[in-house]
Amino acid sequence: MRILITNDDGYLAPGLLALREALCPFAEITVVAPSTEQSAKSHAITLHAPMRIREHAPRWFHIDGTPSDCAFIGINHIMREAPPDLVCAGINHGPNVGGDVIYSGTVAAAMEAALIGRPAVAFSLARGRDFAAAARQAARLVQALAHRPLGSGLVLNVNFPEVVRDGFSVTRLGRRSYGSSVIERVDPRGRPYVWIGGMEATYERAQDTDCEAVFVEGRTSITPLSLDGTAHEALPMLRDWVGEGDFPRADGPEA
Ligand code: MN
Repeated sequence: MRILITNDDGYLAPGLLALREALCPFAEITVVAPSTEQSAKSHAITLHAPMRIREHAPRWFHIDGTPSDCAFIGINHIMREAPPDLVCAGINHGPNVGGDVIYSGTVAAAMEAALIGRPAVAFSLARGRDFAAAARQAARLVQALAHRPLGSGLVLNVNFPEVVRDGFSVTRLGRRSYGSSVIERVDPRGRPYVWIGGMEATYERAQDTDCEAVFVEGRTSITPLSLDGTAHEALPMLRDWVGEGDFPRADGPEA
């Protein structure tokens, strides 16, 4: 099994080291990860600047780009002769639950891999520092996936609790909020600057969500994510609305 590991915390992050260590015994691992931390960079891809690929060790590369750049270049360039059977992103330091998936570079790297057509899993350790325990459970999941491949266009978003126990909870995305604070301060040169956030995140209590599994039940959460952002349930409403007689038309009286 060939696995590409990437992340958004950088190519030497403890979560990546632990995951690599745990997958090495049964898979051929190639690491392609950002040179520096790229957390919360979402799905940015670098189109207007050169990037350099540096080799840290055999089959262990880092790039001065984003997590999505790493997935793209890893699959389409570095591993082009023998593409990965699976792309693993992580293990991220910190949760990627609820709306975090919109901002997450870890999840975006997995999404990028799925866009290219490779099966992908994003791993995050929600609390604590026990990356080794999380990586052992990640390895069991990866081994299981070898026998039951993911459908195309599907990403698994896995979040480990602080203390990893056996088993998984299949969940939907919950709702998490970082508040709306923008802190304004003055820098040492007397110029004002702003900083987003700084408050503890809160989450809504709701059954079957990733937040509930990880933070309340202390269970490892798996949420299937789709690349299809269409709000399918809104299609009939929108068709009705657009089809109504009073909707402005190009050939109508206003045109
Ligand atoms: Mn991160």
